[in-house]
Amino acid sequence: MAPEVTAMDNRLMMLKKRFAERTTAQLAELAPKLADWQNGVCHPDDLQDLYHLLHRLAGSSGTFGFHQLGEEASELEQLIKEVIHTVEPAQLLTACQIEPTVLARLSQLSQLLLAAEAHTPTAINWELVEHTGEKTQLLVLDASLAALGEALMTYGFNVRHCESLPQHCTQCWHPASIIITPAALLNQVVAWNQQQAQTQHKAPAPVLCIGQDDSFQARYALAAQGADGLFMQPVEVPKLAKRIEQLKAEQQQHHASKVLLLDDDQELTEHYRLVLTQAGKNVKVMAEPEGLLAVLAEFRPDIVLLDVHMPPYSGVTLARMIRLEPEWLSLPIIYLSSEQDRDLQINALAQGADEFITKPISDEQLIRTVRTLCYRARQLAKLVSCDGLTGLLNHSHIKQALTHEYARVQRLGHHTSIAILDLDHFKQVNDRHGHGVGDVVIKALAQVLQKRLRTTDHLGRYGGEEFVIILPDCKLAQSELLFKDVCHHFSQLSFIGSDGTFHATVSVGLAELNNFSGEEQALNAADDALYQQKQAGRNGVTCYQHPRLGRDANLAQDETD
Ligand code: GH3
Ligand code: MG
Ligand code: MG
Repeated sequence: MAPEVTAMDNRLMMLKKRFAERTTAQLAELAPKLADWQNGVCHPDDLQDLYHLLHRLAGSSGTFGFHQLGEEASELEQLIKEVIHTVEPAQLLTACQIEPTVLARLSQLSQLLLAAEAHTPTAINWELVEHTGEKTQLLVLDASLAALGEALMTYGFNVRHCESLPQHCTQCWHPASIIITPAALLNQVVAWNQQQAQTQHKAPAPVLCIGQDDSFQARYALAAQGADGLFMQPVEVPKLAKRIEQLKAEQQQHHASKVLLLDDDQELTEHYRLVLTQAGKNVKVMAEPEGLLAVLAEFRPDIVLLDVHMPPYSGVTLARMIRLEPEWLSLPIIYLSSEQDRDLQINALAQGADEFITKPISDEQLIRTVRTLCYRARQLAKLVSCDGLTGLLNHSHIKQALTHEYARVQRLGHHTSIAILDLDHFKQVNDRHGHGVGDVVIKALAQVLQKRLRTTDHLGRYGGEEFVIILPDCKLAQSELLFKDVCHHFSQLSFIGSDGTFHATVSVGLAELNNFSGEEQALNAADDALYQQKQAGRNGVTCYQHPRLGRDANLAQDETD
């Protein structure tokens, strides 16, 4: 067993121990009360406390391996809930309506805690949970695709060729694998792939088919069997390579998903955090909901997992509160609760959440559910936030990113540049070569930008042939060099027009967010700089000059800050 595996298991065992200690103490406190209740004296507050304790145990015991305790707590929770609902509060002070058998079962709870045999809290093989950042591994099946495999190697992929499906495949089935198979083999490949995924606790690898039959029936059959892509023979290798890159990018995004977890049960949240972090998610935990809006704005999770019972707060009301902000209307919220009543679940969902996960949930189920929901959330978010032509952020989302980055600059003070780019004489490009060719030029600029910028930069198509880019942690002088390079590189590209090849150029205006009292002012300043660059002959970069300072002073100030 690898050292990390032991460390992970140790941490989970520690949590289990903490859970057992806390529960033992709470059950010990309960014992004298049970004796009172037997004599018919029961305070309503005590009954509420008992209900909360049972609710917590029903939701978390299973996760720590105390399955019997969890099941018993869940049954008792329902019985106590009935008592609370059917008896008038005033009555409870004098006559306890809890059946003696229920009292007896309550007193046995600590036995169940002791009886649970030592158990390793996780059945997940952590060694096999995915790693990022490695070369994309392609598994190319069947001898007929040997030449294609070789062609793909020239695109920098790590190609592994197998004549048939490998039997024992932990070595060759890399997390980021993409399987390329003749369409005729798809059935077998999908079954094998799913089995691999199941034994290795990962999402199945994407499967791309190479086929010869382009008919509706053939395509429908491949979709039904679970293909992720179809390429016709003879394969256009650049297109296939692009699709593979896309799949890889999707996998990586998927991997970096951010999960905000809000639950007042400390050991349980810590357990979920460890499990999800180990599965590659970026997890932030909150034990108390105050500050929730600030954390949402800062952390920007892909999904929120929300406990329903967090006295004195209700998760259901918190979900509603999150939805008061238009920005979070589409943020997926998932309730995590041991609530079993379907009617209550549906009512809770009606208040603004998207799914209900019933505790206890196994580690594996948790990873799988979060993975699927994050993936769906990302796909949806991408659809609503991206510009259809270029795939960059659309106008409203780049503005949203700007507001967010400006707030961060205010708080953290790091240098952040903003750029506005505008294609030069673009009307002429359209007039001369047609709108379709114009679109190709816009897409090409988007691609150059995507290649040159960091993943932490925000790229948006602001409108028509205008782009806005925000570069956090980037001084003006650095941005100037970067965009000069972009301008040069872009001007070298050849486009095929109506009357032969042509070149296009772009002008850039730059400003530094830090120097302005608001994001709009910074944007206007970058726009002024762009206008100056257009005046100065286009195809290049101009930095906004503070009226107080000359150009050198502007950049020098930037250097010394
Ligand atoms: P300048 O160098 O001063 O920026 O000149 P320009 O011709 O680029 O500027 P102008 O704003 O006059 O023209 C912009 C053109 O961009 C007009 C419009 O038809 C074209 N355009 C805007 N959106 C799109 C688009 O999505 N596709 C294509 N092909 N053209 C677009
Ligand atoms: Mg324009
Ligand atoms: Mg223009």
